[in-house]
Amino acid sequence: MSTRTLNLDDTLYRYLLDVSLRDHPVLAELRDANRSHPLARMQIAAEQGQFMQLLVKLLGARNTLEIGTFTGYSALAVALALPDDGRVIACDISREYTDAARGYWEKAGVAHKVDLRIAPALETLDALLAQGGAGSIDFAFIDADKTGYDAYYERCLALLRQGGLVAVDNVLWSGRVAQPASDDDTAALQAFNRKLRDDARIDLAMLPLGDGLTLARKR
Ligand code: CA
Repeated sequence: MSTRTLNLDDTLYRYLLDVSLRDHPVLAELRDANRSHPLARMQIAAEQGQFMQLLVKLLGARNTLEIGTFTGYSALAVALALPDDGRVIACDISREYTDAARGYWEKAGVAHKVDLRIAPALETLDALLAQGGAGSIDFAFIDADKTGYDAYYERCLALLRQGGLVAVDNVLWSGRVAQPASDDDTAALQAFNRKLRDDARIDLAMLPLGDGLTLARKR
């Protein structure tokens, strides 16, 4: 027995999925399609998607935000968990990747919930703030360029309602954050993680789920 988080070997990981994963056929199809994608590692794990769906339901979320959409997996997971009048404002700069996403959202019957904004995310977030969007968002997911995390986080915090949640992906960065930084992405994540540790505006948890997922609840 140990009081620290268990390491999952392949057998135990398969067991976890076997007894807990409630898959949606279109989520499974999108994971299969992405498996051959050269940037497949950018997609979140199935159990992480399911966890985010639970968060969305716990929050009673209607208005959600996503920074970094890629081929649409996390937006699909969140949209499936939202009520019919809920929405995901999905920010990405790649028309190429997100074009594929639209087909999956349609197939799953949730395309009407996804509001895709193709632009640098900071422009979209600043426009939302300028339009009076502060305090309007229940849940935000940050999963984009790591050197942009701090700026995305600040905008998301302003856009969140009190008690709203921002989830931040890749905060353990395959373990590289615990080593001396040799690149800008690792250094940015290290500074970001330290900043959140000391940020009195939020309640905080860092989960060793997927590549590391930080949850920050706006106080
Ligand atoms: Ca990610």
